[in-house]
Amino acid sequence: MLDSPISENSISIQEALQLLNDNVDTPGLNPASPRHMGYIPGGGLYYSGLGDYLAAVTNKYAGLFYSAPGAVRMENMLLRWMAGIIGFPEDAAGNLASGGSIATLIALATARDAMGVKARQIPDSVVYMSAQAHHCLEKALRIAGLGECPVRILPMDAQYRLQPEALEHAITADQKAGLRPWLLIATAGTTDVGAIDPLLALSSIAKKHGLWYHVDAAYGGFFALAPSGKEKLSGIEQADSVVLDPHKGLFVPFGLGAVLIKNKAQMAQTHHYQANYMQDTLSATEEASPADLSPELTKHFRGLRLWLPLKLHGVAPFRSALEEKLLLAQYVYQRLCHMPNVEVPVEPELSVVVFRVIPSSGADINTFNQKLSLAVQQDGRVFLSSTKLQDSFMLRFAILSFRTHKETLDLALQILQEKAAELEANWQA
Ligand SMILES: *Cc1c(COP(=O)(O)O)cnc(C)c1O
Repeated sequence: MLDSPISENSISIQEALQLLNDNVDTPGLNPASPRHMGYIPGGGLYYSGLGDYLAAVTNKYAGLFYSAPGAVRMENMLLRWMAGIIGFPEDAAGNLASGGSIATLIALATARDAMGVKARQIPDSVVYMSAQAHHCLEKALRIAGLGECPVRILPMDAQYRLQPEALEHAITADQKAGLRPWLLIATAGTTDVGAIDPLLALSSIAKKHGLWYHVDAAYGGFFALAPSGKEKLSGIEQADSVVLDPHKGLFVPFGLGAVLIKNKAQMAQTHHYQANYMQDTLSATEEASPADLSPELTKHFRGLRLWLPLKLHGVAPFRSALEEKLLLAQYVYQRLCHMPNVEVPVEPELSVVVFRVIPSSGADINTFNQKLSLAVQQDGRVFLSSTKLQDSFMLRFAILSFRTHKETLDLALQILQEKAAELEANWQA
């Protein structure tokens, strides 16, 4: 790539495609592959690519209803559809952002202003979450100027779910100490293990003590579309703000995260500005404009990459694919549980399965699993990523590509067994 610098001279499209093939497509991970089961997979929908192409060619100015009423109507319609999926009211507000992290930033900035957290109160304004919360929450807190809020990292049960009793105790203790509890962050599908915090129980504690209730459903939220996922997410409708990532659970390419906020006035209070050079746009108010509900003004027309596949496929195949992922996770879980040397600490609630191999050779368990993880990655036929749970090195299956099916998992399990056996046979302390 670097050998072909940007210069005054042009190259042909064939040369450009060759450069892309050799330097961009080939190295690194292949997230649109069925065999990509690392991190949280996403992407791959062809009609999304067409949607992006059309959005780029027409270049509608999707930040304002005045300039692109159809584009804004479409994006708001998608947001209302998502609100319906999680049981939010029709008049909830939202924004299609570039990803879950930016969506989270929008939610927490709104929460800050709605809860009246002013600079001088920050050191006394307490935030509650578990150690399983995604790191984008702490990042958003800091970027939103809330980095000096005390954060209580609350204990979890054996399934890595935040314990409501621990939350209640922590809030009461902080209130007694004269502090100001203001924000509760729950996760509906943690990145590490796919755990869903007890959403309903947590919501009543948040309500009782007057906290803003944010639910991070970036990974797990769209499982509400699957018949057996809906129940698992009950209580999410009680949140004040929710983040969902269509670039995970709806299989669209990276670059689409959604935030939903129940109270539209609060979302606008944080993001709505006016300027003289924008005066022509003021009369067009039939639909809320993304520019008034997010940090962006000029923006990518992101709705089209989601609308086109939803319209051309219908929602039914999305439901089926998500249900399939839940079943596949149960399948892998059962298969791993039946392998004599494998430890599976958590039964999957969604589509992430963590495990490790316990070597019989007396090898150090963490070193063994680290080497196993590397061996599987170097083999290259499937991709799994790893994590750490209570200082144990764990491998994980994250099953969320619509292209991943049972045969993919059978192959991955076969590769794991092969590599584990090779490592055992050649182990030298
Ligand atoms: C992926 C993820 C995020 C961050 O979203 P990005 O789209 O990567 O910015 C936040 N929370 C959870 C639970 C996630 O899985």
